Amino acid sequence: MPRLPSVENLFDDAGLMRFAVFAGLFVLLVLLEQLFPRRSRSQPRRQRWVTNGALIVIDTLALRLILPVAALGMAGIAEARGWGLFNMIDWPVWLEIILCVVILDIAIYWQHVATHRVPLLWRLHKVHHVDRDLDTTSGFRFHPLEIVGSMIFKIALVALLGPAIVAVFIFELLLNAGSMFSHANLRLPPRLDRALRLALVTPDMHRIHHSTREHETNTNYGFSTSAWDRLFGTYRDDPQDGHERMTIGLDEYQDERPARLLPSLAIPFACSRPDASNRK
Ligand SMILES: [Zn+2]
Repeated sequence: MPRLPSVENLFDDAGLMRFAVFAGLFVLLVLLEQLFPRRSRSQPRRQRWVTNGALIVIDTLALRLILPVAALGMAGIAEARGWGLFNMIDWPVWLEIILCVVILDIAIYWQHVATHRVPLLWRLHKVHHVDRDLDTTSGFRFHPLEIVGSMIFKIALVALLGPAIVAVFIFELLLNAGSMFSHANLRLPPRLDRALRLALVTPDMHRIHHSTREHETNTNYGFSTSAWDRLFGTYRDDPQDGHERMTIGLDEYQDERPARLLPSLAIPFACSRPDASNRK
């Protein structure tokens, strides 16, 4: 089996490269947040960071322990076995990469919409939305069951699509980088924000999605490009109360629980009041 070691090496290199981009961007964004903060914090940063940091460690372990393969691994398997649409047609690689990244990104947009509309999925997604401050660490604050469910969805998509491995790599890199950038507590010059928003999701654009006002939460679902919100009619320009005065989080969790790990992990299993579970 001469092929396997090289495929494994590719995954190792890809993992290392993804981690390097992730760590580099994280440090850069945290520095920029210090220099140009958009909002003052409502909770102590240390406690939130410990909780959000613990969640990313738990999420990473959950993915490794529960799933035998990730989306990138599935792309390798699909290629080796000829599975999926793109392994059946012989298109130029550049076209396949663009199409696959676009299709996967649209799918993640609709997955995000579903997490707000399906009550069971909303229970898990709430763990992300209860964060009362937004910063770079909010970009990876998710319940482990949501992360595992999302990875199963991506693995299934990759098995059906059969995209080039590099397309999955680029898509995941954009998703991670986009999630960190769009959650950053970062003040961009208004003209730069407006220019970037033509194509990308800026922190000001995504913050509206984290408003306690329900009609604002159900807008701006995109993580990396603003195109899908504009196309599917869920784009919103500004929050009703302004970026500095708007309340972030969920009305029923404006307390200490979001900054603590165990209460955060327990959120999906809490008995919810009818008004809390009926968010649409
Ligand atoms: Zn959301």
